[in-house]
Amino acid sequence: MRKPLELSKRAQGVPASPTLAITARVKELKAAGEDIIGFGAGEPDFGTPEVIADAAVESLRAGQTRYAPTPGTPEAREAIAHKLRTENGIDCSAGDIIINNGAKFTVYLALQAIVNPGDVVLLPTPAWVSYKPMIELAGGVVREIPAGPTCDFKMTPADLAAHLDGDVRAIILNSPSNPCGTTYTPEEIRGLADVLSKHPHVAVIADEIYERLTYTQEPYLSMAAVPGMAEQTITINGLSKTFAMTGWRIGYACATGSGGAVIKAMTRMQSQMTSSITSFLMPSIPVALEQAMGEVEKMRQTFAARAEMIHGRISQWPGVTCPRPTGAFYVFPDVSGTFGRTSRGGVVINGAMDFASALLDEARVAVVPGEGFLGCGPNHVRLSFACSEADITEGCRRIEEWLGQLT
Ligand code: PMP
Ligand code: GLU
Repeated sequence: MRKPLELSKRAQGVPASPTLAITARVKELKAAGEDIIGFGAGEPDFGTPEVIADAAVESLRAGQTRYAPTPGTPEAREAIAHKLRTENGIDCSAGDIIINNGAKFTVYLALQAIVNPGDVVLLPTPAWVSYKPMIELAGGVVREIPAGPTCDFKMTPADLAAHLDGDVRAIILNSPSNPCGTTYTPEEIRGLADVLSKHPHVAVIADEIYERLTYTQEPYLSMAAVPGMAEQTITINGLSKTFAMTGWRIGYACATGSGGAVIKAMTRMQSQMTSSITSFLMPSIPVALEQAMGEVEKMRQTFAARAEMIHGRISQWPGVTCPRPTGAFYVFPDVSGTFGRTSRGGVVINGAMDFASALLDEARVAVVPGEGFLGCGPNHVRLSFACSEADITEGCRRIEEWLGQLT
């Protein structure tokens, strides 16, 4: 008898991304002609601005098809450093930047560069579904800092201090937050920085991928721009969300501390894993950062209007609590008021997973159940408003009708 191939313990322990799974399922159902309203996908519904696409096509046609330097071309790295200096107030140069295959891989690589087996990584929750698996792939141990909807899903400096000790190696901060849609104010960032700066051995992985998509009057403050914080912060960002470029796979990190050791380590590891990103996409990076901000502002305004619209509707749902979205394109209502009730299709709703699957089957609306986001997530579902106003109106109508028939 042949012994079957056995998977590594590492592979056995990794769950598939539930957000990507739901996005794929909705695409499948729609392709099969089903009338589904999708609030699942965490990606802009806009096309990539034309100037950015033109730059890639031109460079492909001009033959930029060979390997590029692993951390990116000097021009692309300088354009990113320039953006971080001028827009975010982070004192950095091209050598402090590495460009990767999407911000998801950037976070993975940063954790691989920082975390030893057994190290504790703090994770304010609810948090994006991929952080925990990525921390565990690096051998780290997740320590959650839970925060609920009554405090806008934000931890206080005291919450943070209570979770810090000598075992903590890193913290992942994500503002604006996926899935919460809330954003730390500059004052709140300074408060957290105050605590973190007393623990200079703790790396702050600041995932700022939604930084350009905010809907308040408050300016955005990057953690690495707080005096003294650059030394211990790895800033992560990318082009996916801001420029509607999710399929391009362009993310980046900036780290200036430890004499550049972090970026050098990430570059060494990347050189053994994926090499550079697709080389003919490099010229699109300066073009996006320098020439597409007008289009980004138009998209931001559209998202802001949708945020108001969807939050206004959800706020009227009986028994549902939902903080106002101030950034990203998500709302994360607490639907636990429906638990224990029965849907029109006969499903007893015992959690967010039941809520989401009954809603999809019976009302043809896709949302992401909150379990994968940890913390209070099991009481919540995530709705992405990266879809048309017409979809928001019709999707909310279907949900309201479905809620109204629960017994
Ligand atoms: N961080 C957060 C919080 C996200 O929501 C996403 C979306 N996938 C990413 C990182 C990764 O983005 P990408 O890999 O598309 O650049
Ligand atoms: N970040 C997006 C989401 O949460 C895209 C899917 C993923 O990479 O998780 O839906």
